[in-house]
Amino acid sequence: MFIYLDNAATTKPCEAAVSAAVSAMTENFGNPSSLHRCGLDAQLGMDRARKIIADSLGANSENIFFTSGATESNNLAIRGASAAYGKKRRKIVASSVEHASVDETLSSLENQGFEVIRISPRADGRFYSEDFLSACDEQTVLLTMMYVNNETGYILPVKETFSAVKRNFPDIITHSDCVQAYMKLKFKSSALNADLISVSGHKVHGPKGIGVLYIKKGVRILPILTGGKQEKGIRSGTENVPMICAFGAAVELLQSTITERFAAVSELRSLLMSELSEIDGVTANSPEDGSPYIANISAAGKRSEIMLHYLESRGVYVSSGSACSKGQQSGVLGEFGIKGKSADSALRISMTAETTKEEIRYFAAALKDGIEKLRG
Ligand code: PMP
Repeated sequence: MFIYLDNAATTKPCEAAVSAAVSAMTENFGNPSSLHRCGLDAQLGMDRARKIIADSLGANSENIFFTSGATESNNLAIRGASAAYGKKRRKIVASSVEHASVDETLSSLENQGFEVIRISPRADGRFYSEDFLSACDEQTVLLTMMYVNNETGYILPVKETFSAVKRNFPDIITHSDCVQAYMKLKFKSSALNADLISVSGHKVHGPKGIGVLYIKKGVRILPILTGGKQEKGIRSGTENVPMICAFGAAVELLQSTITERFAAVSELRSLLMSELSEIDGVTANSPEDGSPYIANISAAGKRSEIMLHYLESRGVYVSSGSACSKGQQSGVLGEFGIKGKSADSALRISMTAETTKEEIRYFAAALKDGIEKLRG
């Protein structure tokens, strides 16, 4: 039995991605900076992927910058924009539920003298655009807000917030970590009103170690790395052509099926919640109107890690809170009001359109057995 329900941590690369990577490592292995034919071919492969990813964000190829993943995209966006625009404006506004690659970057800027205001959800567990707007002022350089929270699937009001803020403070740079929304929710960079968008390959059936930072035309970013000035000097270092081509191939496959996959996963999620509602003590931590791809639940006070390994012994792979936090107690769940025993027993189940109803039923049955068998 092998039931993989940890797709928010990483997804299995699709065949198209694997073969694009293999071909760029075996046949088309040139350095895109080389002036000869091999370089040009590598460049063309990369251009093709760049165009696919640009189209998927409603952007132009010139707005797409390849990085080593969303961690780097987030660092580049936040550090790069703060360095470019933050000489006089020293305030940054963010949500309190950002991924560590955003939150820790903000902490590091705090140490450099920036003031960071982290907006929490209200008592109802929801974010309100007014709260972000009222924290912004003429001193604010950057507003960063993830689109879909990776632990609960909660969808933040990015569109409303960014447009309200841009209307009142057009100079504030807006950045969204769209890792868990990309290829799952339909969105375009312009509709989001985002100047900067981070996405990652391995969450969308592409490979690990490749990401993109979308930079709106006219927005300035100072690079973190100095070197050979690849990616127009924004990200020096020989481009990871195999992973770039693979990322492009994965996006090409997924982008025409966002609506269908959303519907299929919504159905799986409904089945999951209805199966779980039959089990004593299981509670839902994710909002009903969140991303259907992620369901966070608390399993009757049984410690997450113990339950996770029990489920593993039954062939089911889930995550405790966020896989990125490597078992550390998540502060993000607390922000959403999930605390104490509920947080200690939180599990994250994350699906893809390939997940089957049988797999969901099997998981629910295994969880029920675990709750009966395991001590608290
Ligand atoms: N942001 C979010 C919301 C994520 O879920 C992740 C992956 N856990 C990242 C950023 C980091 O992405 P990467 O693994 O590509 O560095």
